[in-house]
Amino acid sequence: MFYKGNPVSKGIALGKVYVYKPYTPEITEKTFEPFRIDEYLQRYKDTKASAEMELQRIHALLSDKDPEKAKIFAAHIDIVNDVAITEEIMDAIQYDHFEPDYAIETVFSKYIKMISKSKDPVIRERAADFQDVKNRLIRNWHGIEESNLSTLSEPVVVAAYDLLPSDTAALDRKNVIAIITETGSFTSHSAIIARSYEIPAILGIPSLMSFIRHGEEVIVDAISGDLITEPGKEQIEQYTLMRSQYIKKVRESKEYLDKEPLTKDGVRIDIGLNIGSGNDEEIGHSQFSDFVGLFRTEFLYMSGDSMPTEEQQFEVYKNVLSGFKDKPVYLRTLDIGADKTLPYLDLPKEENPFLGCRGLRLCFDQINIFKTQLRAALRASVFGKLCIMLPMVSCIEDIRSANAIIEEVKSELSEIGIPFDSNVKIGVMIEVPSAALIADMIAKEVDFASIGTNDLCQYITAADRLNPKVTQYYQSYHPALFRLIDYIVSSFNKAGKPISVCGELGGDPQAIPVLVGLGLRRLSMSSSAVASAKAVLSNFTMDQMKEMAQQVKMLPASEDVIEYLVKTQNIKE
Ligand code: PEP
Ligand code: MG
Repeated sequence: MFYKGNPVSKGIALGKVYVYKPYTPEITEKTFEPFRIDEYLQRYKDTKASAEMELQRIHALLSDKDPEKAKIFAAHIDIVNDVAITEEIMDAIQYDHFEPDYAIETVFSKYIKMISKSKDPVIRERAADFQDVKNRLIRNWHGIEESNLSTLSEPVVVAAYDLLPSDTAALDRKNVIAIITETGSFTSHSAIIARSYEIPAILGIPSLMSFIRHGEEVIVDAISGDLITEPGKEQIEQYTLMRSQYIKKVRESKEYLDKEPLTKDGVRIDIGLNIGSGNDEEIGHSQFSDFVGLFRTEFLYMSGDSMPTEEQQFEVYKNVLSGFKDKPVYLRTLDIGADKTLPYLDLPKEENPFLGCRGLRLCFDQINIFKTQLRAALRASVFGKLCIMLPMVSCIEDIRSANAIIEEVKSELSEIGIPFDSNVKIGVMIEVPSAALIADMIAKEVDFASIGTNDLCQYITAADRLNPKVTQYYQSYHPALFRLIDYIVSSFNKAGKPISVCGELGGDPQAIPVLVGLGLRRLSMSSSAVASAKAVLSNFTMDQMKEMAQQVKMLPASEDVIEYLVKTQNIKE
């Protein structure tokens, strides 16, 4: 039987299923006789202490092996010891005579509900941590031993409804050959952990827990998103071969990191980096890239609890520009709004935030924030090759207004004698269909552009990129997206202006040959995607990639495109 889900961490695995059902408490309202208050308060304190001890043990275990994951547990220790939560639980025991498990359930549920409603996806993700700590406390109250995925006796495909941070952080990496879940999307905890451990994973398989059986043999094809149960002998042979070819390919591609990005017939494709914080690690990656195709400056704004000052921004921009020396840096101006919020900036609630006041629109609305950023960037421009990139452009007027503001900032700097590079290039992200459809006009108004396929895909398919209910409609391989990219690229190539892709598609090995075939010569991606991008390029000639692009444009459905690309890239032969 074939089932479909979202492949969030690529790879192929064949093996036995281990159905993992984490402890899920069933709590009913329970109260006790008032004379037992002291006893229950003491027992709650003991419960809290033993939960904390468990967490300290996991934290210590991970501190050396994996400091990043250790941080998750440090945060859980903080939640266990949170003063407000502890006080509320103790009050519920003392004054309402709730039994501790019911008190824990009541208080934590209130917080989880609150956090889940946050507009900020980063805060929303924290609900899983609170859920995790709640379950741990209740399990300890009932004196039940912890069961997790840290000790497995043989290699297995872990199947679960969902995986909480503590399930995945202590995961026995050797023995988990794949992860399949009923819920979850590209940004969920399970997906992030699976990718960082390079474990193939398919999430969001509808009704998984109702049909999957513990111990049964399955094939997990986390390239195309297929889960195959009860596989036949032929399928097993076919996928075993595919698996070894895929592993070989990944191993080989890692060797490509330092190589020049050339197609099989020697055409140079420039590889850019998508960066966020502008720290030294990111700057260190400059050696194997040609430019920064996307500097997401909003990370600077999102990481602190107040607006970064002009001086703070100047220091970061200067560091990045001088780090990349003569390599162009596409500094994207503040792209806040919709999924990205700033805790210290009170923005009015919108019915449709993705269609609302985000990106450049917000900058026009909060002109001082915009001008501060432009001043910091222009001042830093003397240290490297600054290119200013405007997000969420939907019409020519946007470009004209932004240009006028940039000119204003330039003359203000000139008046007070502050130097800047007068030759700074101004470009846009093409991520809104209205802008894409007038790419020929836009090309006349800007120095360069970069295609933001993440947003372009959500707007062209009318599928919110964060809404798990519509992931099947958010189709990155939708032929419409490729047709639109074709139009944008040919418009810019005709105008002789640089065009690149900086959305996720730009670093997707399966999509890269198509993008190059459509005429792109500049691709920007996260540093982890560079090696395989270079490897893929070396596999195909320009003619082959052009042919692939032509074919893809003529296919009717996203699944046809995926099938075609998998076949042509010989992963499955
Ligand atoms: C995009 O939309 O493709 C993009 C690169 O920007 P972001 O993902 O930050 O919206
Ligand atoms: Mg975008």
